[in-house]
Amino acid sequence: MIDVSNLPTDLLVGGEWRPAQDRFSTPNPATGEELITLSAASTSDVDDAVDAATAAFQGDWGATAPSQRGILLHRLADLVERDSEQLARLESLDMGRPLGMSSALMLPNFIATLRYYAGWADKINGEAIATDGYLGAAVPQHAYTRREAMGVIAAIVPWNAPLMILGWKLAPALACGNAIIIKPAEDASLSILRLGELITEAGFPPGTVNVLPGIGKVAGEALALHPGIAKISFTGSTAVGRTILQNSATNFKRTALELGGKAPQIVFGDADLDAAIEGCAMGMFFNQGQVCAAGTRILAHRSVYDAVLDGLSGAARGQVLGDPFDPESTMGPLVNAAQRDKVIGLVQQGRAEGADVVAGGTAPDRPGFYVEPTVLAGTNDMVVAREEIFGPVGLVTPFDSDDDAVSLANDNQYGLSATVWTTDLSRAHRIAARVHAGAIGVNGWSPLAPQLPWGGVKASGVGRELGYEGILSYTEPKTVTVVL
Ligand code: NAD
Repeated sequence: MIDVSNLPTDLLVGGEWRPAQDRFSTPNPATGEELITLSAASTSDVDDAVDAATAAFQGDWGATAPSQRGILLHRLADLVERDSEQLARLESLDMGRPLGMSSALMLPNFIATLRYYAGWADKINGEAIATDGYLGAAVPQHAYTRREAMGVIAAIVPWNAPLMILGWKLAPALACGNAIIIKPAEDASLSILRLGELITEAGFPPGTVNVLPGIGKVAGEALALHPGIAKISFTGSTAVGRTILQNSATNFKRTALELGGKAPQIVFGDADLDAAIEGCAMGMFFNQGQVCAAGTRILAHRSVYDAVLDGLSGAARGQVLGDPFDPESTMGPLVNAAQRDKVIGLVQQGRAEGADVVAGGTAPDRPGFYVEPTVLAGTNDMVVAREEIFGPVGLVTPFDSDDDAVSLANDNQYGLSATVWTTDLSRAHRIAARVHAGAIGVNGWSPLAPQLPWGGVKASGVGRELGYEGILSYTEPKTVTVVL
């Protein structure tokens, strides 16, 4: 376990920690008991944070040289690396993921993202562009673009991977010279609050990074509506994403929306079945299934359907559901009681629609918000195939041909990612081109890396994060022409 008594629980605004008028409490998902209470930012706290971030952007931070921005990001990465065990423990305590996964996957991804964008900070260039001349005449002109920082960015973060997902916003935003206000999720603010202390220790000018724990409907909504914010980068549910898009229209904020998913994993008859079953199980159960890219629609060719169903049921029964700090646990609790009840409700709805519950399907009788890893057999028209469940539940559905697989894969409102399991290289590329999603994995589930653009199509979102796309999306291009 970990002592939370020394943690910051207030707002970081303009380099100072200060309490808000209201507080809210967050549970320990492994016990169901209250874990801690935190300051809840009000709309006037949001105004103050925007003022502080604007002052930093127009002052010391705006005047910081690009290479120095890179040095500061590297320094922050060093501090996160130094304290990574503590940060991993805080996340596991707060949101329930087994500690080994926080330490081995989530913190390393966060550190790698900070370092990747630290390297970009002094390589953000416009380009010189040839034209026909001034007003099309023979008078030559010199034309070029500058890529300029946008100003104040708001980053609204979900609870399922707080630091990792924050890194995809924070690191490129700072590399490009923007100031930022972070709104962590109600259910998992602790690692981000501790990060606030590390940001100060790294030496970023006050106000460059502000942290506002609080309630989405209050602090999140105030950020989305605020005219002083240039861009809002949101990861969360599709419903809230839609509200943010509407609220952002007040001042035509740039928006990056990373929303929900219902990813298909297509297992062809020629797949390496052991690898496919292991990969599909990871796609269903990693992080207790609370993953936007969770591969929860398993489409299995009829020739391997029974084997896939058996294999996944065995994988579900092989999971060890337990305390996130027990090294034997492969799955912890879901984040809160509402999430557990929503998942169980959807499984019951699936059962009522005729899905077979082949493994799991219930919440074990113990304290905390645990749900058994669950495998359903059913069809693509059932609610459990249409809705994002955001829990450890996968549905296995048979298909008969490549066309059939593609049409089932595409028959969903979401389009974040998909996985193709086959040993036929040509088929892999053909299917990758036809499935409508932001990212396709072949023979491996969701290999996230800072170098690779990430984001969805359809109801899975707007825009891309990570990679060079991240640099483009945190700068505005400006065209300059000079008549010579
Ligand atoms: P959520 O939408 O409920 O909350 C996300 C964040 O938005 C929280 O910080 C919350 O406080 C804030 N918020 C809530 N209401 C708001 C409002 N009206 N205005 C502004 N902000 C508001 O999502 P969640 O339950 O925390 O996260 C789970 C969802 O996130 C799932 O749907 C999942 O698929 C999605 N997700 C997507 C990705 C991706 O990369 N596409 C990654 C992780 C999670």
